[in-house]
Order: sequence, then structure tokens, then C-alpha cells
Amino acid sequence: MSTTELHSLDLLTFPVWIVLPHTEELVFANNVARELMHDLCFSPLRMGTFSAHVQNDLTMYLSDLRNLHHIVEILTVYREGEEAAMASRLSIKALPGMGEVILFEGIETPTAHGLKASRSATYQRKKQGFYARFFQTNSAPMLLIDPSRDGLIVDANLSALNFYGYTHDVMCQKHTWEINMLGRRILPVMHEIAHLPGGHKPLHFVHKLADGTSRHVQTYAGPIEIYGNKLMLCIIHDITEQKRLEQELERAAMRDVLTGLFNRRHFYQVTEPEQTHAISLTQDYSLLLIDTDRFKSINDLFGHLKGDEVLCALARTLESCARKDDLIFRWGGEEFVLLLPRTSLDVALNLAEVIRATVAKVTLPGLPRFTVSIGVARHETNESIDELFKRVDDALYKAKHEGRNRVLAA
Ligand code: GH3
Ligand code: MG
Ligand code: MG
Repeated sequence: MSTTELHSLDLLTFPVWIVLPHTEELVFANNVARELMHDLCFSPLRMGTFSAHVQNDLTMYLSDLRNLHHIVEILTVYREGEEAAMASRLSIKALPGMGEVILFEGIETPTAHGLKASRSATYQRKKQGFYARFFQTNSAPMLLIDPSRDGLIVDANLSALNFYGYTHDVMCQKHTWEINMLGRRILPVMHEIAHLPGGHKPLHFVHKLADGTSRHVQTYAGPIEIYGNKLMLCIIHDITEQKRLEQELERAAMRDVLTGLFNRRHFYQVTEPEQTHAISLTQDYSLLLIDTDRFKSINDLFGHLKGDEVLCALARTLESCARKDDLIFRWGGEEFVLLLPRTSLDVALNLAEVIRATVAKVTLPGLPRFTVSIGVARHETNESIDELFKRVDDALYKAKHEGRNRVLAA
């Protein structure tokens, strides 16, 4: 797709956004799409009030998109200054010089708000027939929803009743917005989904159960006509455990196992210049590199386990000295890094001195006192992380050379 081709998208009457999968950066939005945005950032469309998707990270869609799977997301767009839901279809394209990009094409559903009342007021599950058997014998929780009656649940199978904890009568007086944590804000989303052809990847929501607890669910939904009623069939898959494991994995990937502090990998994520949301945090910061003095001798004299105890005590001491926005990392071995956002060299030196003095007072049963040496530097404009580290490492080296248990600036 050339630049001229991109601009020919301005002729379309439906919105098109072109987004880089790795950073969610907007490459292009046609005229219609630009009118639906507040500014030229794409992320708010995926994170807004009505937004629903199955993957937070766009790169997770890449292989499915390459295999032409049908993926839709509900975006939160702005119409006349008000938020509105809009279904969008995703596809993948290779742009010269840019690699793979994801196209979001808005699906305009002009009738979404003016659904004609269906005949579902008369909906009655027939005892026999394929549909009744399919619905009742399936072990997946299923709901039949009437979009034209404010999202009323008109039928629920046994598995859904067990899952939500309601009797059939109570369940069938409820509306979809009473079981969805989004509340009535789910209605525009429901109308969008009710118009989708089905067969697409499911969306994620949080549902409320009768006992007041909530569950993360993946919902497979699509329009269905049963006995002449235009309804929506919603199949619910409980993914609470999967979500918990995902969060645990995410946490584990950024933490050091011994001390629970952030690890070096996370440091690079935070300071990565392309990480747009991290820039404000790191534009103007100072760094402390903290190294335990003569740590090898603690291990040698008292054993590795006692050495580990010292490292954990140090981690807790650093936490107690750090301010709210400071980030603490275990750099490796007996070395730690403190990233101090929006902090001048003077303030950083003071904090380093507080840390040095506090560590020197820490007592652990059966162990002698221990000390740290600290190199301090303030990040300079356009300085790379490697250059900054070289400076702070030199300062630490000097502090060691001058007798340890001291703080030196680069
Ligand atoms: P200096 O004052 O010059 O920093 O001396 P040092 O002994 O602290 O420095 P050196 O780099 O020689 O030794 C660091 C030691 O830290 C060596 C290594 O066995 C130990 N170490 C690294 N990781 C761990 C760990 O996770 N647990 C324990 N107990 N020891 C560790
Ligand atoms: Mg060291
Ligand atoms: Mg050391």
C-alpha cells in the first residue's frame, strides 16, 4: 500500500485506522476515522468505556490474522462529543518500509439503535426440537438475549443457571446489563455484537454472579433466529483462572524471585524509549547503583543462605527509604538499581546518603553489620542507558576504591 493508496482511503464512507501492532501507534486514519477520535492516539479507542476485545496486546492477533481468522473488536469512538460503541473488523497488511500493520475497519450499523421489537415477547422454549436439545444438553453456559427488549435474558440453560447461581425464573427477569460489570454501558456494545455475523473471536467481559462475586468471562455471541424471534445467543466461558495465571506470569516476568523486587528485564522495559507511556516517567531521572560491600565474604563465612537473607534485608531497606514513585530493581547478584523519576542530582545524592546510613544500621541475628557503596548519576538529555550506566558504574568503582561504605556522584 503506497502513500497515494493510503490517502485514497479518505474517499471511503466508513472509518479505517492503520496501527502498528507492537506499539499501537497510529500510522494512518482516514477522514471518517479522524472525525471519530479525540486526538490522534489510537489506544483510547481500545481502552474506552465501551471497548471490548479478546487480546490486550495487538501482537497476539498476528498469527490469527495471517491465517485470515475473523477478529472483531468493539471500539469506543466519539460522535458529536459523546462516547459511542463501534464494532471494527481487523485485518493485516504489509506496508513498504513499515512491515506488518493492522487495519481496523469500522462497521457502521445504522439500525443498531432502532431495532424493531422482535416477536420475542412471545418467546417460549419448545420442549422438543433440535434447538431445545442443543441448548439444554450443552455443558457450556448459554444465554438467549433479546437485544430489542433492553437486553432481557429470555432463556438460560442449566449450565448457565449453575454458573450464575439463579433459578430459571429469576434469571429470565434479568437483563444482560444486570450481570455485566459494565452495567447499562453494555447496551451499545450488545447492539454492535447483535449485528455481527458471528464466527469471530470471542470478547472479554466481567460478569456478576448471584453470590456477589465476579468472574472474568469470554463470551461467544452472535445473532440467532429461533422460532421467528431475532435473538442473540451468548455462550459463556469462565476464564477467571486463566486471567489469574496470566497476571501471575506477567508479574513473575518482571520480578526477581529472591527479593520480589523488579528485575533487570523490567528496567529495560521501563526505560525503553519507544515505550510511549514510560517516557514521562523517565525523561528526567536519576539513577543509583548500589553494590553490597565485601558480600563474597558474607557468603564465605556464613553460607549462601545467610547471604540471601542479607539480600532480602537490603531489598526491604531500599523499599523503606524509597519514595512513592521510585522504582527499585535487583540488577543482579548483590547489586541494586534505584530509578528516581523527576529527581535532581542533589536530591538523588541525599537519598543515596540516607540509604547508605540506614543500611549501615541494619542488624540481622547471627550476622555482622554490612555496608553498601553507591554510584549516583542524573540522566542527561539524549544519553543512552548504556552511557548512563557507564557513568554510574564508574562512580561506584571510585566509591569502592576510596574505601567502600560511601556515596559518589558521576
Ligand atoms: P565488593 O565490595 O568489591 O563489591 O566485593 P564483593 O565481595 O561484594 O564483590 P564480588 O563481586 O567479588 O562478589 C559478589 C558475590 O555475590 C559473589 C557471588 O557469589 C555472590 N552472589 C551473587 N548472587 C547471589 C545470590 O543470589 N545469593 C547469594 N547468597 N550470593 C550471591
Ligand atoms: Mg558487585
Ligand atoms: Mg559487592
